[in-house]
Amino acid sequence: MKLVKRATPAAIAVLRQATAIAPLRMKASDGLLPSKSHLKQSPVSDHNTGLAVDLTHDVVGGIDCKDLFIRLRADKRVKYLIFKGRIWSQDKGERPYTGSNPHNKHLHISLKEAHAKDTSPWFPWLGTPKAINKVKAKVKLLPKKKANS
Ligand SMILES: [Zn+2]
Repeated sequence: MKLVKRATPAAIAVLRQATAIAPLRMKASDGLLPSKSHLKQSPVSDHNTGLAVDLTHDVVGGIDCKDLFIRLRADKRVKYLIFKGRIWSQDKGERPYTGSNPHNKHLHISLKEAHAKDTSPWFPWLGTPKAINKVKAKVKLLPKKKANS
């Protein structure tokens, strides 16, 4: 599997839009491309192709991944979702996730390659962000995906 240098626009849009809507959200478990340790741990991860994104679970900060784990199933860009020991995919539905990292602190979103450039709103039910927050969200550095985070 080839390692890309830049995450796909659709994956980047998840983090930027989340920050624009919820500027004070925690980002400790955010991730796009893999760090070296993550690459070693998960050599076939969708993070390696830029088609995956991790979004930190922060209910107080405005990002409730428990809710997103359900709502994002309706988004045509989503290939599968992982959160708190559960995985959902379009073809197999929801079931237990048995990977080494249960994903308690973040929601993992894998995207379909066909929609990699689609940056339309990921969280339309959360409303439209203020313009100033959109600008702030854009200038922030994009995080690498750590192993076991
Ligand atoms: Zn992930």
